Amino acid sequence: MNFLKYRDNLLYLENASIEKIAKKNVTPFYLYSFKQLEKNFTYFKHTFASTNPTICFAVKSNPNLTFLKKLRNLGSGADVVSMGELQLALKAGIHPSKIVFSGVGKTNEELTFAITKKILLINTESENEIDEIIKIAKNKKVKVAIGIRINPDIAAKTNKKISTGKKSDKFGISINHCEAIFNKYKLNKFISIQAISVHIGSQIKNINPFEKTLKVVDLFLKKLKQKNIKINYLDIGGGMGIPYSKSETIFNLTKYGKLVEKFNSHHHLKIIFEPGRYISANTGLLVARVVYIKKTKSINFVILDAGMNDLMRPALYDAKHEVIPVRKNNKKSSNLIEFVGPICESTDRFITYKKYQHLKQGDLVCFTNVGAYGRSLSSTYNIRPLAGELAVQNTSYKIIRPRQKLKDLIK
Ligand code: PLP
Repeated sequence: MNFLKYRDNLLYLENASIEKIAKKNVTPFYLYSFKQLEKNFTYFKHTFASTNPTICFAVKSNPNLTFLKKLRNLGSGADVVSMGELQLALKAGIHPSKIVFSGVGKTNEELTFAITKKILLINTESENEIDEIIKIAKNKKVKVAIGIRINPDIAAKTNKKISTGKKSDKFGISINHCEAIFNKYKLNKFISIQAISVHIGSQIKNINPFEKTLKVVDLFLKKLKQKNIKINYLDIGGGMGIPYSKSETIFNLTKYGKLVEKFNSHHHLKIIFEPGRYISANTGLLVARVVYIKKTKSINFVILDAGMNDLMRPALYDAKHEVIPVRKNNKKSSNLIEFVGPICESTDRFITYKKYQHLKQGDLVCFTNVGAYGRSLSSTYNIRPLAGELAVQNTSYKIIRPRQKLKDLIK
């Protein structure tokens, strides 16, 4: 997080004191840096400049409306996976010609809406879905542009729970089946297969799985060429990983840029990316307060007012988010410490440290790199209101989504 710094032992995001913001807002809350968002998006665009891709931000990683408007202003499109995300992207002013729709279970209602809005591509994931689109298109007397999501049967070498490109995963269609689909539908009057899409997983830190995927795509495109079948787009999905701690490696985006450039020098396709985490993860913090410290012989549990309902990734994927103090001190805690939440589940635990500074009731801490799959995965489990979302603005902040009101949750 480039804009997160201590000044005189106090934590600042850009030029705003987090302690000051926490005095005026109920914790826990998410706090974003739009400067970081702009830096990330610009860097991504710049790195792939030679292939001039359409960058469709994966809305699922951060579906905040103000966040999306900021991305729209930077030139982003959207990758959506539901009616809700599609409507949100449109509300943010993202042009339908920059929206792609992914997902294995799009309903008739969702497909109809997407067709009516004339979005760039519906990336289909089964023959059943294609037939459903044909039915709708026939009814409306239109021709619909679709993509076929292939399943390249490649291990993304990431957490199993966020891997999507093996044949045992529910996503995409096998290469053999894709060939049959192209043969079956190439002359269809109601659909035009314009794209191949692929997305093999998330938080991928090594270039190899992407390289292997492009090889599979390359072979498939050559087969299509032999049959005189032309497509216009390759949607390469997202999945680029980020370092969640200082010791983690950084994904080599420049190398990926060169790889895609070389690939496309043979195929001359319009390239689409669907990055989520790479654009949004390091834009956000979750600010929480210490409710109690429960000391045992071997460990001190630091019980926060943020729980797994506010930040699900550790419980869901064993993900680790560093927790840093808002006010630094030089006193050391004598015991092992574990940050946990208040939820009635044993998986409501975040991270353990052998050494940490002394903490006391009421102290503030921040979870770092939670701008992706943070607030978007949160729930109201245990009847806890959804956390507010704030963005820093110079030395101050603005509320970009208010904390959910308890009275709205219990009505
Ligand atoms: N595209 C699709 C189809 C996805 O399923 C996902 C994430 O699950 C993404 C893009 C975004 O992935 P990431 O946030 O890893 O870039």
